[in-house]
Amino acid sequence: MEIFKEMEKRGHEQVIFNFDKASGLKAIIAIHDTTLGPALGGCRMLPYASEDAALDDVLRLSEGMTYKAAVAGLDFGGGKTVIIGDPATEKTEALFRALGRFIETLKGRYSTGEDVGTTGDDFVYSLRETQHLVGLPKAYGGAGDTGDITAEGVMNAIHAALTYRFESPSLEGRTIAIQGLGKVGYHLAKRAVTEGAHVIAADINPQLVGKVVSELGIEPADPWGIVETSCDVLSPCALGNVINEETIERLQCKIVAGSANNQLKDRSFGDRLKERGITYAPDFIANAGGLIQVADELHDYRVERVRHQVDNIYDLMLAIFQEAERDNLSTVTVAMKTVEERLSLYHAIHRIYTRSSS
Ligand code: NAD
Repeated sequence: MEIFKEMEKRGHEQVIFNFDKASGLKAIIAIHDTTLGPALGGCRMLPYASEDAALDDVLRLSEGMTYKAAVAGLDFGGGKTVIIGDPATEKTEALFRALGRFIETLKGRYSTGEDVGTTGDDFVYSLRETQHLVGLPKAYGGAGDTGDITAEGVMNAIHAALTYRFESPSLEGRTIAIQGLGKVGYHLAKRAVTEGAHVIAADINPQLVGKVVSELGIEPADPWGIVETSCDVLSPCALGNVINEETIERLQCKIVAGSANNQLKDRSFGDRLKERGITYAPDFIANAGGLIQVADELHDYRVERVRHQVDNIYDLMLAIFQEAERDNLSTVTVAMKTVEERLSLYHAIHRIYTRSSS
């Protein structure tokens, strides 16, 4: 990959490669845009097939964090970390302490926490080396796992999409297909069952599926075929790129709304979904609940404030659907306009000098 070309294309400020021989840590931190404030975004650990794949992931994910913070009305920028390694076998105290020391070198320009392949407990090791962490377990001063609050935000997006399509937010009697039963997917399935939906769900981890089937009575499905399930709502809650050349024509849902970051292979799939008459809830709005919670930790955490901001996802999403229809645009295009408006508003406001202006 031509890194500077890619940074210019996507608008990144900084990409940092971190290597620690003693622990074996190989991590990339990408800081996308700090117009709104210091960068914030989780740390993903995956056995990436190549360094290029890891770099591509961290660039896309950090870019998405800028959009997420901007639309959610938060004064944070976008950042992300990826660790190249297998979370099942390669997590050690040394690895997460080394990561903590690298985070510390950024002096608050970037804070991180859990993401796919990591949990708040991993960062308890990092906490010995840096304070610039979020999503720590409650016992260590954090607000705990973000899975449920993210699921709550996704549910608000689903309710908005149902209202837009069917004039009622109710999930009663509707079918929802959930791909991924991890930290978010599990809570989403639980909420959907409580609301009377028929829940079909899949995960590549059969033990997880077995546990959720017996606890919630959901219908299990094939993890690779689930995106083609005939349903009202398809909810991608695993990894990205679910909507691509292969799947787009095979979708049999009316709504796509889930937690996975970068659900569309690229933004042109927003138009393809529109052409197919499928209502798409842009991922960086639907899944902002986790970011809202961890951002609040950096402002003296208040659960009521977090809930209030997560409730706003419903109105925000409904407004996006309505504007997209009015202007005959894809929901992604409208969501991106909202991002750009907030970033330029911030630039305009900052022309006023204050003593603390930098
Ligand atoms: P997780 O790692 O806890 O769960 C992901 C689950 O998806 C795992 O159980 C995994 O086995 C499963 N999976 C992977 N590939 C699959 C496939 N092809 N089919 C079916 N299942 C598959 O992660 P999570 O925290 O639940 O996050 C899920 C998604 O939501 C990720 O894309 C993440 O970036 C995004 N997200 C999470 C949060 C959060 O607060 N946790 C916030 C915003 C966005």
